[in-house]
Amino acid sequence: MPEFRAPRGTRDLLPVDRPVWERLTSLAGDLARRYGYAGIETPMFEQTAVFERGVGAVTDIVEKELFRIQPRTEESEAWSLRPEATAGIVRAYVQHGMRTLPQPVRVQYVGPMFRYDRPQAGRYRQFWQWDVEAIGDAGPGIDAEIIELGHRFYTEAGLANVQVLLNSIGDPGCRPAYVARLREYFERHRSELPGLELARLASNPLRLLDSKDPDMAALIAGAPRIVDHLCDACREHFDGVRAHLDALGVPVRIEPSLVRGLDYYTRTAFEYYREGAEGQQQALGGGGRYDGLVELLGGRPTPGIGFALGLDRVVLALAEEGIAAPEPVRPAAFVASADPADSVGRLRVATELRRAGIAARADLGTRRLGRQLEQASREGAHFAVILGDELRDGMVQLRDLRAGTQHAVPLDELARSIQRGESTHHHG
Ligand code: AMP
Repeated sequence: MPEFRAPRGTRDLLPVDRPVWERLTSLAGDLARRYGYAGIETPMFEQTAVFERGVGAVTDIVEKELFRIQPRTEESEAWSLRPEATAGIVRAYVQHGMRTLPQPVRVQYVGPMFRYDRPQAGRYRQFWQWDVEAIGDAGPGIDAEIIELGHRFYTEAGLANVQVLLNSIGDPGCRPAYVARLREYFERHRSELPGLELARLASNPLRLLDSKDPDMAALIAGAPRIVDHLCDACREHFDGVRAHLDALGVPVRIEPSLVRGLDYYTRTAFEYYREGAEGQQQALGGGGRYDGLVELLGGRPTPGIGFALGLDRVVLALAEEGIAAPEPVRPAAFVASADPADSVGRLRVATELRRAGIAARADLGTRRLGRQLEQASREGAHFAVILGDELRDGMVQLRDLRAGTQHAVPLDELARSIQRGESTHHHG
């Protein structure tokens, strides 16, 4: 047993693990380009107050799961590792006066988030999210753009059966009356509530709808539905979101108990699940509208909406569905030589090829030619470049390891020959 291990709830993503992550990250980048979401990067830690306000002080994320940084001195500010990206991005929007830019400001970011969760499959203390935000547009069109974008990410990643669960949670105008009804309903069923849920009934009855306790399922199903108690403006907004999503053909299921229970979240709330896995805790991603958040973090009242997709869970889902991870990049050329001592020659030729844009490797040890060629096949190289006596005349041997052919090539045409061979192989 090694003395040091990665901290509980974290994982090393080793070279064999990385290709699928790189594919997901580049897919996110490509979708961002197509949809017009610019990159943004905020610090991995912020003043704790940003999260207390920007996520909510009475949420599990802040109450139980925040990674607080031990201050070094008494004057140090209280910092925490970010549990999610929205609060920091909205803090940056306000700090940099981004309301003077064309609205909405569309931004996106892939990076690690930190929550002191109880580790289990699909639940880590450091995990990765693709976070997308559009700040400065009240919708409903932008809501649909964002929801469809998240759905497309899953589809293009290879998950064909992802469904959107959608709800509207109203606004500060209509929600209080609904919450009062909900409290009344659960009060009537007080004796059936598990202990933990009783505490929630006092602090925030909406969160009862979010309960994962199986004993709550029947009660939740019978509870008043917020979609039946929306004010006209929220109802119209919700209908607008659905009409836009219908027009785009996004598979949506209205889920009246989806609340993502925070006070300043408004109207649109959504989550992504694989079909058949909707009842489970493990959403692939989720998001919503936060029309009160910019103001809470010190800006002018500004609407906003966004999502966070959990990449760890996408990687797990792809593996479960048996979708093969992409192959690691194979070298186009492996430079070997008859003289085991000539590592200088091998490295020099490999460097020339790399300069020409070719993925090249070379044996930098002192192995015999046979061993070098074995290594070339093990690495899956397309060509072996073999340096020998004819190097005096500026010639090398180019062996196509896939076709099993070999011929002499002038050194100064080597890069071009390899490129030509690579392209006929790929396209021919
Ligand atoms: P949330 O804002 O909590 O709904 O998180 C958004 C998404 O991030 C979730 O749907 C998950 O895919 C992912 N996520 C949240 N917490 C974790 C975690 N501890 N480990 C892995 N993924 C997570």
